[in-house]
Amino acid sequence: MSQAAIAYTQPAYSAAAQQALARKPQLFIGGEWVDSSHGALIDVEDPSTGKVIARTADASDKDIDRAVAAARAAFDDGRWSAMPPMERERIMIRLADLLEAHAEELAELEAIDNGKPKGMAMAVDIPGAASEIRYMAGWAGKLGGETPSPYALPQGAMFGYTLREPVGVCAQIVPWNFPLLMACQKIAPALAAGCTLVLKPAEQTPLTALRLADLVAQAGFPAGVINIVTGLGETAGDRLVRHPDVDKVAFTGSTDVGKTISRNAADTMKRLTLELGGKSPVIVMPDVDVKEASKGAASAIFFNSGQVCVAGSRLYAHRSIFDSVLEGVAAVAPRWAPRPSLDPAAQMGPLVSGEQLDRVMGYIEAGKRAGASLVTGGDSPTSDGYYVNPTVLADVNPQMSVVREEIFGPVVVAQRFDDLDEVAKAANDTCYGLGAGVWTRDLATMHKLVGKIKAGTVWGNCHAVVDAALPFGGYKQSGIGREQGRQGIEPYLETKTVFLKL
Ligand code: NAD
Repeated sequence: MSQAAIAYTQPAYSAAAQQALARKPQLFIGGEWVDSSHGALIDVEDPSTGKVIARTADASDKDIDRAVAAARAAFDDGRWSAMPPMERERIMIRLADLLEAHAEELAELEAIDNGKPKGMAMAVDIPGAASEIRYMAGWAGKLGGETPSPYALPQGAMFGYTLREPVGVCAQIVPWNFPLLMACQKIAPALAAGCTLVLKPAEQTPLTALRLADLVAQAGFPAGVINIVTGLGETAGDRLVRHPDVDKVAFTGSTDVGKTISRNAADTMKRLTLELGGKSPVIVMPDVDVKEASKGAASAIFFNSGQVCVAGSRLYAHRSIFDSVLEGVAAVAPRWAPRPSLDPAAQMGPLVSGEQLDRVMGYIEAGKRAGASLVTGGDSPTSDGYYVNPTVLADVNPQMSVVREEIFGPVVVAQRFDDLDEVAKAANDTCYGLGAGVWTRDLATMHKLVGKIKAGTVWGNCHAVVDAALPFGGYKQSGIGREQGRQGIEPYLETKTVFLKL
């Protein structure tokens, strides 16, 4: 904590938000709101104040079994998968429309649950969530098989073709950094493919997922197609992952938990997609407009308080412009000074939790102890809420934990480089491979770096751009599989090959 702690005031919640906070802690199973079997509750905090604002149900094993049974029944009787795709598409689009119609309320819930500025949730999270559903809805009626000509069959004339069938019951487990957006990114391809599902939001940020359940019911999804359960990762999440009646697990979260899930899902050979952590480089070449690139590098790390899997947390600037880039990032840092999430002036909010605040401050202290110097920030400016000032560390080396590990806060480490091969090698010197930003005006340099960088997405002169139509996912320990785009539906489909003797 800094000596002169600021006292921020979170503006009052709207009536709609208060109503959502007052809801009974229940689970959405089989199209109904039901009580948990054991009545245990989880506190939900507003990170801008640190105060408990709601309690949600902590799903027991019995509850999870009930949710999986509802999804299984809905899958097995074909109430969703056998519905004409045009009708499935129509219902999904109705859900997207409802998300947009409730954007203001959902954005506020996201702000008071996660800590992100409401304006940002309005601009990014809610339209993003709706576009995931809208885009995937369009695929529902376009998923056919193939009719390849048999190549070398000694049996004589044969007709061969393939069918694409939904995988079955999906367990979908999401993190707290973009709660509704991640939830919709998960449910959209599953629904388009004809699967049924059980969604578990992160225990820190359940509010928009619960509101999503209301909208699912309103949109007209048949009971049991979408089940939404709140609960802890190690218990409710784990039960889902190991459940013998779950066919596929889709997980977004930390690499450590991803590894655990991968092991636990193996016994029943579940289909698995993993969207995991990152330590993404931002490379600034000497030919850029330094002011523009510095602004870009700042927003690459400070957007969403750095709680972004593709946050540009390692800044590499060419030696000839290193000092100016550092000055440029430090100059815009005050614009990102954290404020309460409902303050209209907020560009960056607090971190999601006290645990995350301790973790981020711990990394900053470890960096300083290891010899890193603080260019700006490095402190938590308030006595309540979980705020950290935008932080830039220089004089780091590749062995330091601040350079190697995912901090998941508004903390960037800055390093110099001299040539392209050197920076490509440094950029790849990580177990992660989720994203990378390259700032240059030179097309040849851009393409050379695109070819050398091992990451699922490379951004040229921008950062963290994602779109429902383009695949997203990680190389190396940043994940397995892709979400979004046509590729994003593949993990939700099995292929059945058929031979007919003519
Ligand atoms: P986390 O791994 O702690 O938790 C994510 C989810 O997993 C939560 O719902 C949690 O309840 C559940 N969980 C925890 N332990 C579990 C277990 N043993 N079995 C089943 N479920 C379990 O992650 P987090 O702290 O919520 O989110 C931050 C992490 O997510 C960061 O590492 C970030 O990079 C990553 N992330 C990745 C992407 C991506 O697309 N690659 C996107 C957003 C966040």
